[in-house]
Amino acid sequence: MRIGRRLLLLVALLVTAAAIVIDLTAGVLIDRAVSERALERLTLESGQLAREIERRWPLAGDEADPWADQAGEALRARVTLVDPSGRVLGDSQVSQRELAGLENHADREEIAQAAVAGLGRSTRVSPSLDRPMHYVARRVGSAASPLAYVRLAVPSAELAAAGRSYRVTLSLITLAALALLGGLAYASVRRVTRPLESIARAADEVASGRYDQSVERESDDEVGDLALSVERMRRTLLQQIGRADAERELLSSILSGLREGILVVGHDHRVLLVNASLRGTLRLPGEVPQGTPFIQVVWDREVVEAFERTLSTGQEVRRRVKAPGGVFELTVVPFGGAGGIGPGAIGLFFNITQIEALERVRREFVADISHELRTPLASLRAAAETLQGGAAEDPEEASRFLGMLIKNTARMESILNDLTDLSLIETGAITLSPAPIQLSGAVREAMAAVEAKAGSRRVDLRNEIPEGLILHADRRRLDQVLVNLLDNAVKFNRAGGSVRVAAAREGDSIRVVVEDTGQGIPPDALERIFHRFYRVDRARSREVPGTGLGLAIVKHLVRLHGGEIHAENTPRAGSRFVLTFPARDAGASPERDI
Ligand code: ADP
Repeated sequence: MRIGRRLLLLVALLVTAAAIVIDLTAGVLIDRAVSERALERLTLESGQLAREIERRWPLAGDEADPWADQAGEALRARVTLVDPSGRVLGDSQVSQRELAGLENHADREEIAQAAVAGLGRSTRVSPSLDRPMHYVARRVGSAASPLAYVRLAVPSAELAAAGRSYRVTLSLITLAALALLGGLAYASVRRVTRPLESIARAADEVASGRYDQSVERESDDEVGDLALSVERMRRTLLQQIGRADAERELLSSILSGLREGILVVGHDHRVLLVNASLRGTLRLPGEVPQGTPFIQVVWDREVVEAFERTLSTGQEVRRRVKAPGGVFELTVVPFGGAGGIGPGAIGLFFNITQIEALERVRREFVADISHELRTPLASLRAAAETLQGGAAEDPEEASRFLGMLIKNTARMESILNDLTDLSLIETGAITLSPAPIQLSGAVREAMAAVEAKAGSRRVDLRNEIPEGLILHADRRRLDQVLVNLLDNAVKFNRAGGSVRVAAAREGDSIRVVVEDTGQGIPPDALERIFHRFYRVDRARSREVPGTGLGLAIVKHLVRLHGGEIHAENTPRAGSRFVLTFPARDAGASPERDI
């Protein structure tokens, strides 16, 4: 039941009870007051009548009853005159004829009292009239020689009727007061409950997540204080929600910016959060709604097991797992788990694809180096052992094996030189000193470096670079690039073939082409020839000297200059290396097709 109604009911009950008690008490008091007033009146009037009788005494025998009738009518009461022996001389309500038939009144209670004390009172049923009456009797004359007794009586019913009329009036007044009190109580209760209702409504709004409606303080009392507290609570909540929103936003931007994938699973095995990186890794089409069973999201039995283990044991689990987006190191850690609820699990997917690839490259690199060094080392050892075994005695043999020693030492030296160069370039330890270079002059000098080798294989070297074409580059490193490419073009050429170098400016870049008429490069090796130690035909590597590092160095150097290099096969079955450098000096060089 609502407070207002309860209060009203309580007030109504209390007031009604009070009214009933007051009404009943007042009724009794009224009755007593009415009868006391009546007895008082009778006492007074009986005194007057007694004095009148005494004055007129002795009364003649036929005078007494008319006198009583007259007095009774004047006083609107029953008047009885009794002689000292108890015989009734006159009675206003009994005719003269019937007087003789009345019994002796000497032992009537009030008469007996009056005989002794001068005044007697009683309330009893009148045997003569057969109804309850109030009596007052007074003695006329002294106690020793009484003359007569005057008695006055009124019916009790008459007094009760008078009391009743007072009581009805009282009841009406009580009812009116009750109605007034009820109205006042209702108004006061409403004054208290209305602001309470509006506070309750405002609190309801807050509870259902609407915080924009403020709560007004309407009064200066406890209810007003309550309104103030609710308003303060609403503001604090608003602030806390604002803070929580900001924190959530911060967290979500951190999570979405993280390159590591994150999956948070609740103790109920349902998804709490999947960040953008992991969605990419798992190739998920969109947001994953909270509450999705996590097995609908993860793809791999190992991942599911890792999460399930953490969820059931609360322990950290680490796994290396494969996903569509690469290879990942998965770490699942527990969180929460207090109050009898099992722990949740946070999974961090750290992408180790690149680390793995680097690791593989490093392993291959070490294997390649040892492989490359093993052959010349074996030759060195063989030559040295042969020399030790007696070949040194024979000058011809000795010179042959010493030649082998020198050749293999030189090869190891060139491998180590190339490796040093490569590592310097890769670690960024070399710095370029670019300057404008006449490209045709640089090519001419590079051709001079391979001229002897080209001559021995009857390979024709053609420099088709237009004079005046300027390239911004580090001269020493550009020479290294050109000599490497020309050396390969001669080395892998056929006898009697040719090597052509051309260049032209193309828009914002300068395109340099080194083309030969050799055996070409198998299409699947066109990219790999730029990898360290890669050689198309390893079996032939003994015949054609080389470290397999030249093109790797060339590629790095070209990139250091801001350029690109790629290899292709010419339609006439040779290979072509195309280099593109950014042109700095716009308009200074002639344009021409290669
Ligand atoms: P190498 O020291 O073996 O020359 P490079 O890195 O310079 O090492 O070249 C790698 C491989 O690329 C060579 O072993 C060869 O198989 C291939 N190659 C390079 N240049 C040419 C070319 N002009 N014609 C055909 N194959 C080539």
